[in-house]
Amino acid sequence: MSPSKVSVDFTKFYNIVDGQKRSAATQHQGINPGTQESLWDVPIGTQQDVDDAVAAAQKAFKSWSATSIEKRTELINKFVEVFAQYTDEMIQLVQKETGKPKQFAAQEVSGVGIWAATTVTHKLPEEKFEDAEKVVTTRYTPLGVVGAICPWNFPVLLAVGKVFAAIFTGNTIIVKPSPFTPYSALKIIEIAQQVFPAGVIQVIGGDDKLGPMLTTHPGIAKISFTGSIATGKKVMEAASKTLKRVTLELGGNDASIILPDVDIEKVAPQVALGAFVNSGQVCVATKRIYIHQDIYKPFVEAMVKFTQSLKVGKTDDEGVLLGPIQNAMQYEKVKGYFEDSKKNGYKFAVGADTVATSEGYFVQPTIIDNPPADSRIHNEEPFGPIVPTQPWTDEEEVIARANNTNTGLGACVWGKDVAHAENIGRRLEAGSVFINSSEKPTPLAFFSGHKESGLGGEFGAAGLLPYCNAHVMHVYK
Ligand code: NAD
Repeated sequence: MSPSKVSVDFTKFYNIVDGQKRSAATQHQGINPGTQESLWDVPIGTQQDVDDAVAAAQKAFKSWSATSIEKRTELINKFVEVFAQYTDEMIQLVQKETGKPKQFAAQEVSGVGIWAATTVTHKLPEEKFEDAEKVVTTRYTPLGVVGAICPWNFPVLLAVGKVFAAIFTGNTIIVKPSPFTPYSALKIIEIAQQVFPAGVIQVIGGDDKLGPMLTTHPGIAKISFTGSIATGKKVMEAASKTLKRVTLELGGNDASIILPDVDIEKVAPQVALGAFVNSGQVCVATKRIYIHQDIYKPFVEAMVKFTQSLKVGKTDDEGVLLGPIQNAMQYEKVKGYFEDSKKNGYKFAVGADTVATSEGYFVQPTIIDNPPADSRIHNEEPFGPIVPTQPWTDEEEVIARANNTNTGLGACVWGKDVAHAENIGRRLEAGSVFINSSEKPTPLAFFSGHKESGLGGEFGAAGLLPYCNAHVMHVYK
């Protein structure tokens, strides 16, 4: 029997501490990036809220960590059923706070069920070793209270990915959404209170002071952080004071290598979409495209043709595929890459040399044709819909170029000869390599960054272990 639907107000937003809705003396508002209209009030959490949440999470941890994995699975499955009742309201909320086209907001919301269902199929390993005198068993036990610090580009998925892994493994969790997109995480966790005991899943939104309150709190055992490399370094530094465990999912500058044997008409649109999906605001998006010299011109032309067909617009506009940049700060940053490219005389194969202005933060998808190797657009992560292409001739040299970066999140190789493409893929220094596909992380597989793209990782069965201590029992006969 499906659960009866409890009325939830999607115009009022609260922090959730110890199972209770909590407001605050000061409030702020997010902005709908498609219209620049202010959205609803959200409370700005304080040190007191953090202290109370940590105390509640520590208390809840005692019983939650002792709850069987079967019971935890049952409650996660029940939450998915309860949450599904609010699908339409959640999609509208994600549309308003991110400006994403409706189909992508819907995809993100449907990801909650998919992420949950996949997480509960994973198993924590138990390793046994026996010799004449003893049996040694390694088990994986929960850490305690987890602090989840989230970015604004996928406010639902990047929060629930942490929540399900943490609570499935027996931890309790306090989520801190990005101040740019607080609404969906606050509402999901308010809904979760219908299912989980108080203190198991809590949420506190706020301003820039809130993250450091979590990273320095002695009652928090681990920080799972997704965001920029610069902030990731600050998180690690702060966490070192109490030797918290940290998982850092950071930025990237993913290379896509296009081999000369590809079917140009088929592959070029997929490569372009891999760069422009979510208006380029994807950590693991294609950010540098290396095309073999023999097909460089027709491949760029095919990408241009496809890019011209991409409709940029408001979330509910007919046929829209790319929404706005999510916030003013990021919009200004992305504009900087347009201005730099224009100033230096780089060739715009498609897109504007100025950013479209309207009431929202809209940017036309743009390809910069063969900028120099030391250009900003080649060497930095714009996190917007602007991508460089460069030709290559020598395979060794293009692999070296792809790897010549301090990041290593994702990479793609496109070619008809799959074994050959895989051989190149094995030599790319990135956590996730995709052959004949753009970057598509899945809850089935570990997701992590090499080099400055991160530390540790999430998702897949291996993604549960960073939420655990190893506990080894040596039993002598
Ligand atoms: P950001 O680093 O500015 O902010 C991320 C979060 O950290 C926010 O919640 C913010 O409030 C918080 N924060 C800010 N200062 C803090 C501090 N000193 N201590 C603790 N927390 C602090 O990142 P963003 O702009 O929200 O997100 C965009 C970046 O995130 C891009 O670089 C992108 O590549 C990266 N990203 C990575 C992944 C991944 O899985 N690897 C996924 C999405 C985004």
